[in-house]
Amino acid sequence: MFGWFKKKPAEPEPLSGDPPISHDDLRALFEYLDRPNPSPCDHTHKECVEFLRGRQLPVGKTLGWLKANGGHCDCEVIFNVTDEWGEKVGWNPKTEE
Ligand SMILES: [Zn+2]
Repeated sequence: MFGWFKKKPAEPEPLSGDPPISHDDLRALFEYLDRPNPSPCDHTHKECVEFLRGRQLPVGKTLGWLKANGGHCDCEVIFNVTDEWGEKVGWNPKTEE
């Protein structure tokens, strides 16, 4: 079921530096996406958007940044973005209680 992915026209450098939201917010986003029993990813950023809106954070910029870091949908944010950023923002998925 591969759709035809629209290639965006040449964009300026992907924003791969610092996230447009604070590290605390980013960690909270990871925690939110990685919560127990999340709804299944429908390959959008639905959950991210909900989270960002709820906190009145910049949605477009943040999604752009997530994509530049491999997070092309909610589940990929957890799979890919946390690789590099999980530790930097103090996110620790291994806590077992
Ligand atoms: Zn996904």
